[in-house]
Amino acid sequence: MLATLLATPVAWAAPPPPQTSAGDLAAERAFVDALMARMTLAEKLGQLNQPPAVGNNTGPAAMAGSEDQVRSGAIGSWLGTHGAELTCRLQRIAVEESRLGIPLLYAYDVIHGMRTTFPVPLGEASSFDPDEARNAARVAAVEATAHGVHWTYAPMVDIARDPRWGRVVEGAGEDPYLGAVFAAARVRGFQGDDLAAPDTLLATAKHFVGYGAAEGGRDYNVAEIPERTLREVYLPPFEAAVDAGAQSIMAAFNEVAGVPMHAHTPLIQDLLRAQWGWDGVLVSDYTGVLELVEHGVAATREEAGRLGLRAGVDVDMVSDIYLKDLPAAVEAGRVPMAEVDASVRRVLNAKFRLGLFDDPYRYCKDSARQEATTLAPEHRAAARRMAQKSMVLLENEGGVLPLSKSLGTLAVIGPLADEPWAMLGNWVGIGRPEDAVTPLAALKQVLGDGTKLVVAKGADIDSDDTSGFDRAVRAARSADAVVMFLGEHPEMSAEANNRTSLDLPGVQERLALAVAATGKPVVVVLLNGRPLSTGALQGEVPAILEAWFPGIEGGNAIVDVLFGDVNPSGKLPVTVPRNVGQVPIYYAHRNTGRPPASDNKYTSKYIDVPWTPLYPFGHGLSYTTFGYDPPSVARAMLAGDDLAQQVSVRVTNTGQRAGTEVVQLYVRDDVASVTRPVRQLRGFQRVELQPGESRTVTFELGFDDLALYDARMNRVVEPGTFTVFTGGNSLATDSVQFEVVR
Ligand code: BGC
Repeated sequence: MLATLLATPVAWAAPPPPQTSAGDLAAERAFVDALMARMTLAEKLGQLNQPPAVGNNTGPAAMAGSEDQVRSGAIGSWLGTHGAELTCRLQRIAVEESRLGIPLLYAYDVIHGMRTTFPVPLGEASSFDPDEARNAARVAAVEATAHGVHWTYAPMVDIARDPRWGRVVEGAGEDPYLGAVFAAARVRGFQGDDLAAPDTLLATAKHFVGYGAAEGGRDYNVAEIPERTLREVYLPPFEAAVDAGAQSIMAAFNEVAGVPMHAHTPLIQDLLRAQWGWDGVLVSDYTGVLELVEHGVAATREEAGRLGLRAGVDVDMVSDIYLKDLPAAVEAGRVPMAEVDASVRRVLNAKFRLGLFDDPYRYCKDSARQEATTLAPEHRAAARRMAQKSMVLLENEGGVLPLSKSLGTLAVIGPLADEPWAMLGNWVGIGRPEDAVTPLAALKQVLGDGTKLVVAKGADIDSDDTSGFDRAVRAARSADAVVMFLGEHPEMSAEANNRTSLDLPGVQERLALAVAATGKPVVVVLLNGRPLSTGALQGEVPAILEAWFPGIEGGNAIVDVLFGDVNPSGKLPVTVPRNVGQVPIYYAHRNTGRPPASDNKYTSKYIDVPWTPLYPFGHGLSYTTFGYDPPSVARAMLAGDDLAQQVSVRVTNTGQRAGTEVVQLYVRDDVASVTRPVRQLRGFQRVELQPGESRTVTFELGFDDLALYDARMNRVVEPGTFTVFTGGNSLATDSVQFEVVR
């Protein structure tokens, strides 16, 4: 229907477009129709062109060239250009000096904060707290929009089951359900309730689709994804983002089944647009259109442009192909004008929805807002709260944690104790290291004169040098307790930063073992962007806290947890392998035809390490303990189409401290026409409980929680029994069964 509408140009009648408000689809259509009727082909292709941020880091000549391009209508949106002053200045040229005065869109990678840096997305996902993630995205939007940004390239909703892939840090982990919940929360946070408000921006679900399945964990690589896995694992977070109203989606660098995603008409046009009814802007990834040449599906730049546009890639980021190579192709009839129009319409719709035709300066005109929102105290407070919730207590033998604040001497060891970048992580917007509170700074702040801090680096993040070991061991010996800060450099994860090892880099593991050999109570705090195989520390180091890259308030949040001011409640959003050879390893695997792995040789396992993970998905300890009653269902049998089910489980804080438990619910389809995962997460709730307190948690299940794709890819709920597991991680054994009768 949209195509028919687009094919019918509405004649432009002077005077120029009326002032109109966003949110009204009929008004939007009339306005955009009228505007498009006035546009030349060059102006249309200009709207689809997105150059890199030349204005930010090059000299005056380049800037003047960019300004000329804006004047001529050759730029529709800009990547990485931000700041109230700069964006307003360029916007003024677009609005006042270009022929049609169409405002620019400013796009930027605002991933986990603009200036107030929150934990990396994988860390946020460990909170299992979508409300907090939504709030984090809201804070990012408030700051980014005050800096003139209209469009964020977040959330990344790629499911990642291969921790070698550096970009595992940017998503919500391995699970499609958790991924979908976080995708929706983040989209809602960025976009708020009213897109036309000056503090909301376009959210971009990326990278569509299958980017996380890059073979060998090597970024940009081929993804081999069976249709079932595509539908069950990789697509759900995108669908959730679309349902939450995401206005933008970014194409992925990878191919799926021989077709690069920037040319994937079936997945973009047929599925995303036609089947899901999504009408937002699809942006290429950085030079993604040009890369069709290197992929070997286009012989020339023009052909790459033709394929991209036909597939429905509306905006050409950085390749410059739509602008430079498509005019001749359209004029010669090699590219239908209707395809150009469809994409231009979507870009103009986005500008309309943001209210930019009413007031193109609404994001940038208030530099006082930029001042006031940047690093606002309430933003820092939100970042600290999110960081507290994102920490996962992996080990706590003998209750080493929490530490007492009245220790005589505390040794602080490791390369990351005072490294601000290890708080920030990567993709930090305009985040700055000087904003970050490191653990060492926070410890100095919290511990009074009564506690002596002995600091020793021990080793670098990634070198063979063990010359610092002796000092570190001496420091440990002199102390009542030891805290070690180990992990990765931020440049070891994120784009293009893939590793073939999941071990602690360099000699850090050896350092930890040397320090642990002193017999002192040792706590290892991990700062990293991917699950790390720290099995060698198990049984040697009594306490391990996974803090990820926790954001600028990370040091404070870590110290809050170390001394028990905050009781940790995070849970792993990824399975942690014993070693890299187990990859891929994820909890929602399917069974083989063999019995579960055992001493029986001919079962599915390894001969050198157990087949089970180091830490299961959903794992995370607390300073208290929780007890679960067996779950119960509201109905033992579901008949016909009424698949509404309620599962209840009573949880009790059986320990001595107040704490929060993430109660998890997993569903298994016991016997089906196709093989099914051994269990799938279908619900979780954070429950705060005082010592001795009990609460009954109730989960609602329905069609989507029980459905599968049958052999013909129809989505159905099949008759038979289902088992529901409840507990504090993906190994939960408490269960209840019910039956579906059709
Ligand atoms: C990344 C995207 C990012 C884009 C723009 C690309 O290299 O893959 O995730 O949004 O650059 O910065």
